[in-house]
Amino acid sequence: MTATFEWESDSDAPVETYDPNITFAELGVAPELVALLLTQGIEKPFAVQAITIPDGLAGRDVCGKAKTGSGKTLAFGLPLLMRLQPAAERRPRGLVLVPTRELAIQVAEVLDPLAQAVGKRAVVLYGGADIERQIKQIRKGCDVIIATPGRLIDLSERGEVSVADIEVAVLDEADRMADMGFLPQVDWVLRRISGPHQTMLFSATLDGDVDRLVRRHLTDPVRHEVESAMPTVEAMEHRFLQVHQMDKVKVAASIAHGATKTLLFVRTKRGADRLVEQLQREGVKAAAIHGDLRQSMREAALRDFSSDKLPVLVATDVAARGLDIEDVDVVVHYDPPEDHKAYLHRSGRTARAEKTGVVATLVLWDQILDVERIQKRLGLRMPITEIFSNDPRLDDLAAWKQA
Ligand code: AMP
Repeated sequence: MTATFEWESDSDAPVETYDPNITFAELGVAPELVALLLTQGIEKPFAVQAITIPDGLAGRDVCGKAKTGSGKTLAFGLPLLMRLQPAAERRPRGLVLVPTRELAIQVAEVLDPLAQAVGKRAVVLYGGADIERQIKQIRKGCDVIIATPGRLIDLSERGEVSVADIEVAVLDEADRMADMGFLPQVDWVLRRISGPHQTMLFSATLDGDVDRLVRRHLTDPVRHEVESAMPTVEAMEHRFLQVHQMDKVKVAASIAHGATKTLLFVRTKRGADRLVEQLQREGVKAAAIHGDLRQSMREAALRDFSSDKLPVLVATDVAARGLDIEDVDVVVHYDPPEDHKAYLHRSGRTARAEKTGVVATLVLWDQILDVERIQKRLGLRMPITEIFSNDPRLDDLAAWKQA
């Protein structure tokens, strides 16, 4: 069986296919890495991984169009860690260049344990942090560096690290590096690699400056452009609203009044029934879908929602799984999702077919920490704004740009 992923740009380009049942081991990933991934609950490769890991392992230059959340870190990280010779002092063999400190830390969190599993050391270098500590880390031994370009150049010029021996270089989120004006620094670094090496570039877009970067630094690259299986953060507008228990239903009602089709997610079946009743008391026509309802009732609710007879649907996570609901303009996390993956799965009900939908998360004061943790995992740095149900911004969430 194969799964297909449409190429995003050239309409005449081939459709990429891969076996959705393929395992990391079958892709050629080393057993100790496979075992470690399993302990992290990572059992099956995502599309971007299934498609690029074999090329990465074969030493090919790779140019991947992939966004945050697609699983690109492992797509380049696993081949990178498996292909490196032992490093000399302060002369790492692997390099991951990233645009921001946050991404550097995030990539390091993924690669660190994997590097250890194959007897290698990864060191993370970024600006705005104590350089002496980073120098000490380099001196302790480093096979792989994960770095923002400016700090890496600083350390190279001080003679603390050399990129000359790099065998595998990765440019992660190249479009963001271009947007931030880092391409001269990226050039500077790549030009100082002295021997033949493999370069893998990942970017959400591959035109303009990124295309020039590819042409300058990649040799006969294989191009992979996959739609991520998971909806991506960039594909939707996010609003985080701190609400008060007594006012929460009314906030949901205000949002529903301002939208054509609203899908609300709750944690429990009882919670779904209760919310439907409460919304109806606020004059909002709503129905629930959850596992305790008869199939015929669920189908009727879905049909009415799809045909615009019913403006509001309240769903549990389980009931919503696998449903293809089109044209939802607002998804409301009435109860915050379990984790960042649940956030993306739920939110993916909006923002279909090139349209940007709005996703609103309602947060009670004692849920703020949990929601901030989810925001961090999603790379969403946004405030959680206190709001009351009579606030006119709720009438048109799309128009309100939350700072
Ligand atoms: P990335 O795009 O590399 O930042 O990955 C996005 C998220 O997906 C991270 O939280 C990873 O832990 C998770 N992830 C990556 N690959 C897999 C996989 N094959 N199975 C399950 N989760 C994964």
